[in-house]
Amino acid sequence: MLRLAVQKKGRLSESSLSLIRECGIGFSKKPASLKEAAYNFPLEFLYLRDDDIPGYVEDGTADIGIVGENVLVEKGGDMEVVMKLGFSKCRLSIGIPNNVPYQGKQDIDGWEIATSYPKILGNFLKENNLSAEIHEISGSVEIAPSIGLADAVCDIVSTGSTLISNGLKEVEVIFTSQAVLVANKNLSAEKKAILDDLIFRIKAHQKAKNTKYITLNAPNEAIDNIISLLPGVKSPSIMPLAKEGWSSMHTVVKEDDFWEVIEKLKAAGAEGILVLPIEKIIS
Ligand code: ATP
Ligand code: MG
Repeated sequence: MLRLAVQKKGRLSESSLSLIRECGIGFSKKPASLKEAAYNFPLEFLYLRDDDIPGYVEDGTADIGIVGENVLVEKGGDMEVVMKLGFSKCRLSIGIPNNVPYQGKQDIDGWEIATSYPKILGNFLKENNLSAEIHEISGSVEIAPSIGLADAVCDIVSTGSTLISNGLKEVEVIFTSQAVLVANKNLSAEKKAILDDLIFRIKAHQKAKNTKYITLNAPNEAIDNIISLLPGVKSPSIMPLAKEGWSSMHTVVKEDDFWEVIEKLKAAGAEGILVLPIEKIIS
């Protein structure tokens, strides 16, 4: 049995749990439960505050965990970062009141900065040879300048709307973060094997998420040209349509690349283009 620490409630929790579900692992997640086992995979969940996850994984209370890089670096701890998960993306930024001019990092020297991330902010200040007084507060950081507690804040930003609604502007991004899968460094062989199975499933899901199954119809004489336009495709499946002189082409492409060539495909004669989701890619 492998023990996974996930956030009980918050910005990481839903995406963490849906990733596990996408891996074909079933569980109930009753709102009140703090611990539960999956039905069909040797995985046990511990539902925790995100701040506690690195500590639990480091000391082996949990074998693996899903946590934001921001919390991981801030809390520290010796563990393996197994993979980046691509969700809960955010950044840690310095914000100052709108009416304060800002020319560059040197302006930060001598400020008082309110933050819940003293370690990451401290690293940034050290790397840039700046000295500032760090006020550690655990929440509602954004109001610190308006109540005279600090000159600036250093806080998590994703869209920037919280800063704006508190009359602040973002002047420096000091750290970027996303959710990562972390593991204890001393897993038994049995636990490692379960983790490898889980990683295999996560990778199959991640690969599928960024890839689409494309079908389109084209006049036969346009097929070669269309193959050359489809990014990274060497050999699509081609099936004749009932309509004389036309074929249906089927292939798999990276979604981002596909949107860049869609107009060219249409100009080349492609019709009835379907873009379909893929659930898993096993390679
Ligand atoms: P807990 O009660 O578990 O301590 P919390 O209030 O500390 O929760 P959340 O606000 O739920 O934390 O955020 C959890 C993590 O999600 C953050 O540490 C960060 O990695 C990421 N995160 C925070 N804000 C955002 C956001 N606006 N968009 C995307 N990800 C975010
Ligand atoms: Mg927290």
